[in-house]
Amino acid sequence: MKVLNPYCSDCNWLKGNLHTHTRESDGAAERSEVLAIYRDDGYDFLALTDHDTFSPCRRHDGMVLLGAQECHVSEGTGFDCHIVSLGETGRIPRMDSAQAIIDEIRHRRGLAIVCHPRWSFMPYDVFDELKGYAAFEVYNGSCDKEVGRGFSNDYWDRHMSRLGTRRFGLAVDDMHRPTVDFATGWIWANAEKESESILGAIARGDYYSTAGPRIETIRVTDNTIEVYTSSAKAVKFITANARVAHIVSGEHVKRAAYSVTGEERYIRVEVHGHDGKVAWTNPFWIEP
Ligand SMILES: [Zn+2]
Ligand SMILES: [Zn+2]
Repeated sequence: MKVLNPYCSDCNWLKGNLHTHTRESDGAAERSEVLAIYRDDGYDFLALTDHDTFSPCRRHDGMVLLGAQECHVSEGTGFDCHIVSLGETGRIPRMDSAQAIIDEIRHRRGLAIVCHPRWSFMPYDVFDELKGYAAFEVYNGSCDKEVGRGFSNDYWDRHMSRLGTRRFGLAVDDMHRPTVDFATGWIWANAEKESESILGAIARGDYYSTAGPRIETIRVTDNTIEVYTSSAKAVKFITANARVAHIVSGEHVKRAAYSVTGEERYIRVEVHGHDGKVAWTNPFWIEP
């Protein structure tokens, strides 16, 4: 048996958000204000993803700004389908399908992120057919705050269980209004503080996502997955069909471990904080 671990052993966590709006599209704050609030909150990297508007890669006050855009499918698909592009792709025009946008982003050597499938009411079969993207949004803070459709973890477990394909999930705040949805979701990526390294960590799944709880260490030793976290209410090891293979709960859980049996298709870990907020690891793929 082999446990495919997306995490490097030496954790050098950088904090970042991959989905943010400014007044360049439908955000409430100017770019300069947006950059200041993320910088002041200790973010290492940020993607300014205004709708249909490309922002190039650059450095700003010690933060790495990734090349980014929120891309749209043309009208007529029956639901709002959005794809974030990361990297130096240049502006991506509206296209007829999500797959066409993903293919164009890859053609331009960028990374594609499938945005908020729950908010989009994306049909499961449409989600299942998408290929070639780097990750999808398992949690979108703005969609949670605005309409209660922020969690898309059912898409994740359903897809990986039925299709047997590993997918990476990430959390974003999709900030539109700083007082409402700023810092409601973000990732910690295992990278050096420069664009190529951060994009490399995102591509290989070497990051975890959170709406609050902190994970200090993630490691695999002799087929045992072990996490050290900030004080939590519960740590869940989740496998195919969203079944909880193992749970560690208590007043102050700070460490949890699970020994893989070889029967699981995958294990992903959720850390549940005392305030109800969640952190998500990427899946550990199990090869019998
Ligand atoms: Zn969107
Ligand atoms: Zn957005």
